[in-house]
Amino acid sequence: MQDVKVAVVRGAGAPFQIESVQMDDPRTGEVLVKVSAVGVCHTDMFAQGLAGLGFPAPIVLGHEGAGVVAKVGAGVTKVAVGDHVVLTFASCGQCLNCQDGAPTYCNNFGALNLAGVRADGSTTMQQNGTPLHGSFFGQSSFGTYAIANERNVVKVPKDVPIELLGPLGCGIQTGAGSIMNALRPEIGSTLAVFGTGAVGMAAIMAARAVGCGMIIGVDVKPNRLALALELGATHVINAADGDPVEAIRELTGGGVRYSLEATGIIKVMRQAVDVLLPRGVCGVVGSPPPQTELPLDPNHLLFGRTVRGIIEGESVPDVFIPILIELYKQGRFPFDKLIRQFPFEQINEAIHASESGEVLKPVLVM
Ligand SMILES: [Zn+2]
Ligand SMILES: [Zn+2]
Repeated sequence: MQDVKVAVVRGAGAPFQIESVQMDDPRTGEVLVKVSAVGVCHTDMFAQGLAGLGFPAPIVLGHEGAGVVAKVGAGVTKVAVGDHVVLTFASCGQCLNCQDGAPTYCNNFGALNLAGVRADGSTTMQQNGTPLHGSFFGQSSFGTYAIANERNVVKVPKDVPIELLGPLGCGIQTGAGSIMNALRPEIGSTLAVFGTGAVGMAAIMAARAVGCGMIIGVDVKPNRLALALELGATHVINAADGDPVEAIRELTGGGVRYSLEATGIIKVMRQAVDVLLPRGVCGVVGSPPPQTELPLDPNHLLFGRTVRGIIEGESVPDVFIPILIELYKQGRFPFDKLIRQFPFEQINEAIHASESGEVLKPVLVM
């Protein structure tokens, strides 16, 4: 057990407080990681807002960690002390979907990522004898150290700065994987991306990397639309200027083959479906509040259109994250342009900069 510094949320909407806690030694199958940097993702803010309501509290969040292996538990063979790793979502490896190569749809996803405890109910941290919730996405990486499982650490090359790589573990793989793993658009096909935050931008970069034809970014923030053009969008539409569905139909001569919904706003989801050509596919990655319903016109769907949800870009992280790093090294996936670094102590400022839309992907550097 060792003393480490972590950012704790003590109740719904409460600010992050940097505190000292005692962290376990890694148990069988676990890996202790010295965190170099950690991205801030919207799910962290979602959980912060519901800490003590839908989520346990007090809790340590953070799920885009990257760092160096400090210690390994018994039986760990995948990584060794000194390896550079990206931390990603946890999965069980034993359920039907994990066995089928689809760990983002692990049947135990909620228990392993959102319950605040290990699978056996214990916590990885305590404060003077009182257990402290952690294990958020199998890591809780808003801290100087984090405990993950061998299954959710991804070994990465050392010739890329480790401080950059954390967001690959969630937000960036969600956007890129939605294109490269889930929708798999044909070369030259048309795609509209609704919402050009970090996830939407990663989708646009991936669409360019795989050779989409027309790539249309839709948002209401002019600065984001300008960056979308720089990163691979061939066209952008400011939805504040009028109906984006009409604008896209005009631009494409009827509609798009693929769309991606990355806002979580119901009105926008409807637009992302309405803009599809017959046989078109809409991927939904934005998460609206619980119990929300999505109104759709069944007569529109009848013409071979598909609406499907996508979690974590349907990534098999050990395979997909190294692919993204290779594309980055080749200059074909410049996700670093989305990042602004903050010192760990400025975690609340970083969250605020993300919420205001001023920064696409804040990364806290330890
Ligand atoms: Zn599973
Ligand atoms: Zn996330």
